[in-house]
Amino acid sequence: MIEVSFSSFYMIYIIFLGFIVFFMWLVNEAKNKSGSFEIESENAFWQCQICAYTFVDSQSKEISICPRCGSYNKKQVE
Ligand SMILES: [Zn+2]
Repeated sequence: MIEVSFSSFYMIYIIFLGFIVFFMWLVNEAKNKSGSFEIESENAFWQCQICAYTFVDSQSKEISICPRCGSYNKKQVE
């Protein structure tokens, strides 16, 4: 059997705990990226630059058509 001193056992224990925390952090990050519904819905809000009508369009990313006046709106970078 391999002889393990208390300090090396403690070091392995700390590294192991670090890996668990890192793994949980990765899982949490993946969850946040896939389930970012709130941020997506916030980006789905558009305001028409012609008639100032506010509408929701989650399909469009860059350019959306206003349902009221039919004009094209480009996403403004804030
Ligand atoms: Zn409009």
